[in-house]
Amino acid sequence: MLVLGIESTAHTLGIGIVNGEGQILTETRAVYTPSEGGIHPREAAEHHQKHALAVLQRALEEAQVPLDKIKGIAFSQGPGLPPALRIGAVIARSLAGALKIPLLGVNHCVAHIEQARYFCQAKNPLVAYLSGGNTQITTLETGRYRIFGETLDIALGNMLDMFAREAGLHHPGGPKIEKLAQQSTGDYQELPYTVKGMDLAFSGLLTAAKRLLSKGTRLETVCYSLQETAFAMVAEVVERALAHTRREEVIATGGVAANARLGEMLQIVASEHSASFDSVPLQYAGDNGAMIAYNGLLLLKARKSIPLSESTILPKWRLDQVDIPWEV
Ligand code: AMP
Ligand code: MG
Repeated sequence: MLVLGIESTAHTLGIGIVNGEGQILTETRAVYTPSEGGIHPREAAEHHQKHALAVLQRALEEAQVPLDKIKGIAFSQGPGLPPALRIGAVIARSLAGALKIPLLGVNHCVAHIEQARYFCQAKNPLVAYLSGGNTQITTLETGRYRIFGETLDIALGNMLDMFAREAGLHHPGGPKIEKLAQQSTGDYQELPYTVKGMDLAFSGLLTAAKRLLSKGTRLETVCYSLQETAFAMVAEVVERALAHTRREEVIATGGVAANARLGEMLQIVASEHSASFDSVPLQYAGDNGAMIAYNGLLLLKARKSIPLSESTILPKWRLDQVDIPWEV
């Protein structure tokens, strides 16, 4: 049983194919990088449309499977940028229709989490899902991912990208900020730390970091202080969620999970509560088609394909609105 998955929520047009055990046969992608500024939704969609056929052909060649061996077509139905989402949906509907096989509508956030759970071999972990568009601390409980804490304004990755842009660094900013922070002398400058209950807010931190930079503070120092503050906020919420749920595993996923300092902090928090910690492998931290294919496989096994009439994109589809039909 092979499932093909299509990711197109934001910057990445990704196609992956997994087998019935969830093993990845191929994971190919084309990534749109804006020439300046942040992601422009229409430009991202144009990029995806332009590269779709080549990425699909490459995926099929790499996996060495003929199209007729594929038993389901999965796509990111949301959340994401509407013009970009539409490209993936159109490709998925066309393929599923032409091959006369089930169409599987995947929630992008669930896909990140389930792929991380697969790679980390975690049973029912507390999950820190930290990406360009999402910041959520969550765990699966009675059929849904329940959100313990999340950002009240911008996502952690988005905040890092916006600061980077201000500092003249190209998109994506997270990895560049990480390098610069490593080059700092560890001279922490105080920045606003905002945890409200279990929720987080990053826009005040962003403004203050920009101000610090404009006052002439070394970029390395600001990057270091920004990371220390933002990641400590995340670690605090993870710690409280862990104390509350008594989960024995913590995993991190989403693009920001690639950050070594963040991993170090979450590792400390987890071990203080006798829990294990693991991150999704670097290669799969960001958006990819294989995670959509894998989530599609879970849906196919649970007989949860969708008719064409229910395949409209859901740009605001929240993680905690998704019924999880598979067992953990
Ligand atoms: P995603 O939305 O899951 O594809 O992840 C993209 C986000 O992850 C962007 O905001 C990146 O800046 C961020 N990111 C990628 N690598 C790192 C890193 N090493 N440290 C911090 N953020 C990162
Ligand atoms: Mg993502």
